[in-house]
Amino acid sequence: MARLVMKFGGTSVADIDRIRNVARHVEREVKAGHEVAVVVSAMSGKTNELVGWCRQAAPLHDTREYDAVVASGEQVTAGLLAITLESMGVSARSWQGWQLPIWTDGTHGSARIVGINGEELVKRFREHGQVAVIAGFQGIHKETGRITTLGRGGSDTSAVAVAAAIQADRCDIYTDVDGVYTTDPNVADKARRLDKVAYEEMLEMASLGAKVLQVRSVELAMQKRVRVFVRSSFEKPEDINPHGTPPGTLICDEEEIVESQVVTGIAFSKDEAQLSIRRVADKPGVAAALFGPLAEAHINVDMIVQNISADGRTDITFTVPVADYDRAQQVLAKVKDGVGFAAVEGAKDVVKVSIIGVGMRSHAGVAATAFKALAERGINIRAISTSEIKISILIDAAYTELAVRTLHSVYGLDR
Ligand code: ADP
Ligand code: ASP
Ligand code: MG
Repeated sequence: MARLVMKFGGTSVADIDRIRNVARHVEREVKAGHEVAVVVSAMSGKTNELVGWCRQAAPLHDTREYDAVVASGEQVTAGLLAITLESMGVSARSWQGWQLPIWTDGTHGSARIVGINGEELVKRFREHGQVAVIAGFQGIHKETGRITTLGRGGSDTSAVAVAAAIQADRCDIYTDVDGVYTTDPNVADKARRLDKVAYEEMLEMASLGAKVLQVRSVELAMQKRVRVFVRSSFEKPEDINPHGTPPGTLICDEEEIVESQVVTGIAFSKDEAQLSIRRVADKPGVAAALFGPLAEAHINVDMIVQNISADGRTDITFTVPVADYDRAQQVLAKVKDGVGFAAVEGAKDVVKVSIIGVGMRSHAGVAATAFKALAERGINIRAISTSEIKISILIDAAYTELAVRTLHSVYGLDR
């Protein structure tokens, strides 16, 4: 007998037929004698619709009420799955974040989980043989008693947190692809499924745009050593052996991966915008005078490039999340006279393509290979940033697919 968390994303619960299919996956594991907690997302498209309604109601709205609205998508699917399971003879009960409860901090819209009472869930498995169907994405702020949500894609984090709280043997993330691939399989058809990915690599891939797992879910899995499997909900439930190793990708410790490659994957993010400050004085304190106010405005600056100055003046280029682009422009306009620069130029039609692999720590020349390959395709590089296990390159968005496929192939990742 194993203890499992099974998480189903939006496309997996998109309509009643799919919810029935999900119920058959759950039934399989329950019949095999496993203790099961299920975490569900809202039906695909639902959260976007709810977010849209909040914006229509008032572009600037109270995030406490945003949470009250957007958490409702998961309430529906949790109830529907519990109804479906019961109708199949599988004992089940739905749980909202506030009922379990899943305690969070008070950062509405992107709250962090601070505690879950796992013992209570385990008691219910034991005493009632009941499947807990938990609404993902939502929790409750203890101090105010208000509903919170965990940020987009947050059901992954709900699932990993529940798995850690009940000391589950596995946390299975069922989605619309059958694992983690070397790059988004919907962009590059030569992408290959990976059997195993190290936590650190998955963390980079998720942070750099591979939305298959929410970044915080990977952080939490790494911290609590939760074994996460990414697998497909579209495989026939009855074809899977509930006692075997699940088909899909295991996210695990680096040590568990026997054959590791230099580059594991390519990710990309269209969520970037570029800002360039022209002819700013090259003297101490200027970077602080520019980036200090941006930080105070809670704008995350990512890639930063500063040119060497020829005449005491230089250009500084950096990226911000595209959603913060207009605000960043406003902040810079305010400091323009104090700092002294000629102009701010910006671009939103850019994409950050990243090359990720723990093997990079011990290999030279990985970046040079990318630069050469992109140059041969006539793709201009706007900015670069690196860390121990990743290289990120900012390019024109029009070249996204070409760049992803070129890099995928040049590092030998093609199928
Ligand atoms: P869910 O609704 O199940 O949470 P998501 O849409 O959040 O599913 O995540 C699954 C999607 O992630 C896939 O459809 C795929 O397009 C995308 N994706 C991006 N990068 C990768 C990758 N490296 N491997 C697998 N999927 C990826
Ligand atoms: N429904 C939420 C979203 O769309 C949470 C999730 O799907 O993980 O962001
Ligand atoms: Mg998701």
